[in-house]
Amino acid sequence: MKNIKDYNLEDLQQELLQLGEKKYRAEQIFKWIYVDKVKEFDDMTNLPVTLRETLKQNYTMCNFKILKKQEASDGTKKYLFDVLDGNAIETVLMEYHHGKTICVSSQIGCKMGCKFCASTGIKFARNLLAGEIVEQILAVEQDLGENISNIVFMGIGEPFDNYDNVMKAVRIINNQKGLNIGARHISISTSGLVPRIYDFANEDLQCTLSISLHSTNNEKRSSMMPVNNVYPIEELMKACKYYIDKTNKRISFEYALAKDNNDNLEDAKGLVNLLKGMLCHVNLIPINKIENGNYIKSTNENIIRFRDYLNDHGIVATIRRELGSDIDAACGQLRRKNLKNQEEN
Ligand code: SAH
Repeated sequence: MKNIKDYNLEDLQQELLQLGEKKYRAEQIFKWIYVDKVKEFDDMTNLPVTLRETLKQNYTMCNFKILKKQEASDGTKKYLFDVLDGNAIETVLMEYHHGKTICVSSQIGCKMGCKFCASTGIKFARNLLAGEIVEQILAVEQDLGENISNIVFMGIGEPFDNYDNVMKAVRIINNQKGLNIGARHISISTSGLVPRIYDFANEDLQCTLSISLHSTNNEKRSSMMPVNNVYPIEELMKACKYYIDKTNKRISFEYALAKDNNDNLEDAKGLVNLLKGMLCHVNLIPINKIENGNYIKSTNENIIRFRDYLNDHGIVATIRRELGSDIDAACGQLRRKNLKNQEEN
């Protein structure tokens, strides 16, 4: 059955026309789903009963079931959702000083193989469809009973490896007649799939682009992130420059600091040389150690020294607050241990 949340408003209008219905019904349905956040076609009380029946016969509302919900001492909540085909995914709600943010997954598993990331241990099952990305937000909002204004594509999966579905989801999330979350409040993070960075630059979307950089040295970056063997730093930076020129938007570079790996002053100097003059910001993430992982967190002293070196040399850098680490919901910690029906590798 088709998922009603896979359609942006214009596509839903086409669907309704094809069903022999009036176009304006699409806008009513869209409002019920994204503004009133109802879970059943029967709750769409301004639709004729016959139309509700037709909808029920042709579409699913794709309501995810919460399999598990954990809350960290800092208020971070991790949801394990049943995506209705035997698979499960994780979505995280974080409380920042400026408000709440939902961190969505884009794939069930990940193919990128980054050595420091717990998602690497999850066997890749499939891409999430646009409606399944959107549903993560609706399900969290329904559970909380409030609307969330910030979304980050930083859960499990590589968003640019599921490019079309992610772009479609972004446009549904962004639609003013629906969830109406401003593009500036949506961040997409990529490990560096260069061709998709060019595509994204040409999308004319105001979302924030985050690039997981983690090292400015090809050898070191490749040892952490196999994607660097395919798209080395020079090509990545060329694409980033194209993106900035095209959009005039700042890029956020993510840099996870691992002790005795990428956290010394030589590395900081490398970053200054690579990024100087660019419209960008560096987000330093104290690396979260994963089960059986080789990388351990830098000392606080090194993290601060690293940040100060960047700031003193003209690169704006901030340290990301660690949220949800006591429930394995912090950066890169979303993992398989809860995921049902997925064998260990
Ligand atoms: N595939 C996307 C989204 C991944 S998660 C990407 O690679 O960008 C978002 C961020 O968390 C990425 O910057 C990722 O590199 C980082 N991350 C992954 N594992 C981590 C860990 N163990 N500690 C800190 N950050 C981590």
